[in-house]
Amino acid sequence: MKHALVTGASRGIGRAIAQRLAASGWNVLINYQSNVDAAAETLRLVCDAGGSGELMPFDVTDTCAVNAAFENWRGQHHKEYISLIVNNAGIRDDQVMLFMEKKSWDRVVQTSLDGFYNVTQPLLKDMMRHRNGRIISLASISGLKGMPGQTNYSAAKAAIVGATKALALEVAQRGITVNAIAPGFIATDMTASLDQEELKSQIPAGRFGTPDEVAALADFLASDQAAYITGQVVSINGGLYT
Ligand code: NAP
Repeated sequence: MKHALVTGASRGIGRAIAQRLAASGWNVLINYQSNVDAAAETLRLVCDAGGSGELMPFDVTDTCAVNAAFENWRGQHHKEYISLIVNNAGIRDDQVMLFMEKKSWDRVVQTSLDGFYNVTQPLLKDMMRHRNGRIISLASISGLKGMPGQTNYSAAKAAIVGATKALALEVAQRGITVNAIAPGFIATDMTASLDQEELKSQIPAGRFGTPDEVAALADFLASDQAAYITGQVVSINGGLYT
């Protein structure tokens, strides 16, 4: 059985990716931070559709908690390994730099960037040994072009782009691909407070994207057909930034 870990899979884009991967035959490890009910709902959706999954709670910023969760999983799945990571967990905490507190900077950068390290590094060895793996991380249009009020978030997501490109070069010969997805505005809890009516007039496609549309892209990048795509950042933004 193929195992895929999706961080932040209790809601939004992560939930949609978990559902899509399960439909493609992956056993999905559904990570979340604290929202037990939402994560259980993701698992229910996966199972009701005939897929398989399991819950794997941890805070991606907590190195010890991540390692403990992996050790526990390995103890229950002898000789198996996680061959797909979707680094999706992310938060935003917007404020113009002039008034940004250090804790807002740290929380946002640690979730996206330290989360990338904490989750990816310990799983890499198994992928290299098996000469097989896929690593997909959620960047953002904000990390490509910068967004006012998001220096923390833009920095974190730009860093994901750099990490993706560097790691892709390190592991390409081992049959592992490393790519990033850079969404524009996607309708989830993260964007619920934004004024969709006002913003969609700026989007050439005239609407926010759906989590399912992002999930379809992740599913493709995870597939065998995408074996020759690596080190790329694929935008999905309705034409907002080309
Ligand atoms: P969301 O609806 O706010 O969901 C965030 C998910 O991340 C939840 O499952 C949450 O778990 C989890 N999470 C947050 N902090 C965590 C931590 N420290 N450890 C583990 N899990 C954690 O977000 P979304 O809109 O689906 O965004 C998903 C990813 O896409 C993020 O990386 C985001 O930056 C990126 N993105 C989103 C958009 C957009 O328009 N929505 C655009 C560009 C990029 P709990 O439920 O337990 O809190």
